[in-house]
Amino acid sequence: MKAHLQNSIFKKLSKLAEETQTEVYVIGGFVRDIFLKRPSKDIDILVVGNGIDFAEAAGKVLKSKVSIFKSFGTAMLRHGELEIEFVGARKESYRSDSRKPIVENGTLSDDQLRRDFTINAMAISLNADSFGKLVDPFNGIDDLEENIIRTPLDPAETFSDDPLRMLRAIRFATQLHFKIDESALDAIRNNSERIKIVSAERITDELNKIILSDIPSIGFKHLYNTGLLQHFFPQMVALYGVDIIDGHGHKDNFYHTLQVLDNIAVHSSDLWLRWAAILHDIAKPATKRFEKGIGWTFHGHEDKGARMVPKIFAQLKLPLNEKMKFVQKLVQLHLRPIVLAKDIVTDSAVRRLLFEAGDDIDSLMLLCHADVTTKNDFKVKKYRRNFELVTQKLKDVEEQDQIRNWQPPVSGTDIMEAFGITAGKEVGIIKNQIREAILEGDIKNSREEALDLMFEKGKQMGLSPVTSSK
Ligand code: ATP
Repeated sequence: MKAHLQNSIFKKLSKLAEETQTEVYVIGGFVRDIFLKRPSKDIDILVVGNGIDFAEAAGKVLKSKVSIFKSFGTAMLRHGELEIEFVGARKESYRSDSRKPIVENGTLSDDQLRRDFTINAMAISLNADSFGKLVDPFNGIDDLEENIIRTPLDPAETFSDDPLRMLRAIRFATQLHFKIDESALDAIRNNSERIKIVSAERITDELNKIILSDIPSIGFKHLYNTGLLQHFFPQMVALYGVDIIDGHGHKDNFYHTLQVLDNIAVHSSDLWLRWAAILHDIAKPATKRFEKGIGWTFHGHEDKGARMVPKIFAQLKLPLNEKMKFVQKLVQLHLRPIVLAKDIVTDSAVRRLLFEAGDDIDSLMLLCHADVTTKNDFKVKKYRRNFELVTQKLKDVEEQDQIRNWQPPVSGTDIMEAFGITAGKEVGIIKNQIREAILEGDIKNSREEALDLMFEKGKQMGLSPVTSSK
């Protein structure tokens, strides 16, 4: 174990512990990650006594600035790339209406008892007489070996005390590919409703960590099966299940969505592209109809889905900024490349897609690839071939016309100056007509042809050009 405490800071902290007659341990995620061989830069130091006082002394020894969070009783310092957090050992007791416990000073074992999982409760001594000794009262080491998430105390109590731990259990199971102990899973099922006392921000922090894992579906299946998802993301739950009419069923859109999400995760670690995968079919339940002779349809689910995005982002306290706009755009456009792949592809349709997707065209194509989840090999091959055609066509048209990030060659100001008019609906109409003509391929993407068309359209609208005074 000492081999993992090679960094000189551990020796320095140990010396300080001896000088100040304080019991000090490394605890939590850093210890767990040693055994998982996941090098970690966050170190939690447990001080049996006053964490802030010890941190201030450590700051002097390590010549680092200490930030103090008085209300949490914690302090933090950065040393090189390490972030070291100091906390006094606590004993906690909970009330039923809040995640905030009543806190008293405690011993190492009191503190280990309040930790969420056995694998997160291990500590390593920094004290001179036992430097490097592992203190593992709940056999966290065995649970790490067996890939299992288990709570130190009765899971019902652990989860009821702090319901955020239910999400943390699922998050760790997803990140580490661990099983959740059966009795813990039962306790999550029984306590799922208590997630209501956790703030949306904290829920979403954990949810995003699940989404950023390499196989996010593991977490979503747990969230659904335990009933947690139902409490904070009902729109996604609505995707679950299959209706059958006249012997026709549609695919289960919950599992389809998870498959798309896992597919995307193989190709991109972008959180927002992953959110686009989660939301691409979100309006299917609301737009679902059975049409005789046709079967199940989901007309307009891309439009309605895009309209649902802001509400879902607000509900989950996700940012209502350009990230949301990106997700919205991808949801809106997710069928377009498939439509292109099915029909004979015209240049103008490709130009239009490039114009609307702009720089997000590559993300959109990734999403569309990921959206092919049929198990029918023949269909997969056909779609893939068509996508290659569309991708090639996108490349050709872009090289020829540079539509990505394109601004039409005649601006609103040009139009106002040319006809001596102020901003108004005429300007918009002419601008639109120029843009459409270029996207349709009726005129070239050049200033000269765009100006010719501007004068022609202006004339048709009864506008007369300002004659140049020169
Ligand atoms: P990661 O860095 O991947 O989030 P971590 O385990 O370091 O993993 P932190 O949230 O930094 O996660 O928590 C540090 C330690 O604090 C945990 O290992 C655990 O011992 C304890 N802990 C964190 N949150 C809780 C909680 N809600 N209930 C009980 N113990 C917790």
